[in-house]
Amino acid sequence: AGMSVPTAANIDTLSQHFPLCMQNLHQTLRANSHLKHLGRLQYTLFLKGIGLSLEECIIFWRRSFKLITDEKFNKEYRYNVRHAYGDVGGDANRRGRGYTPYSCQRILTEPLPGPGQSHGCPYRTFAPDNLISLLQKVGVSDRELLRGVKEDVGKQRYHIACNRVFEHAHRVEIKTVKDQGTLGAAQLDTIVHPNTYFKRSWMLKH
Ligand code: SF4
Repeated sequence: AGMSVPTAANIDTLSQHFPLCMQNLHQTLRANSHLKHLGRLQYTLFLKGIGLSLEECIIFWRRSFKLITDEKFNKEYRYNVRHAYGDVGGDANRRGRGYTPYSCQRILTEPLPGPGQSHGCPYRTFAPDNLISLLQKVGVSDRELLRGVKEDVGKQRYHIACNRVFEHAHRVEIKTVKDQGTLGAAQLDTIVHPNTYFKRSWMLKH
């Protein structure tokens, strides 16, 4: 099935296909009606990567920041979203294109989030117990799986933990496409980009 065009209104629904880093940002945004700069940038670029248009992305952020006025939004936040999309600012290379959505590598090597910040990869940035709580909150509760995740993160194999969760969440669909031979080996490679996680999840579930 073809991908329906993402809009500000269906991000909540689509977020079930997001990797943990983006689910964490989405939940934090919903809980606080706010996200700090680096989290906003990480999330904006991811949303751009799933095909959310600049117009819809601005609507998404405007509606999500429920506690501020239009004036404050326009003055402090709108420009950054446009900048990420390459609609304003940037050097000649970036003009018109904006910034590239971050890979896992990029996200995993950023400075750790400080108090109140939510960017980064939760497999790395969360203390193990908080990580398990976060996973349970997004519906990952299999004990064997959680044990595996704990082991992975203990060895600092963060993206392996993420792939383990993906494979478990999609095990039925992966088995089906493997049996049918409809998904090539390359399409089941280890995920190293949040946007690949989303795309693959969406594809397998549709
Ligand atoms: Fe996100 Fe990559 Fe971390 Fe998975 S491994 S949560 S996709 S940064």
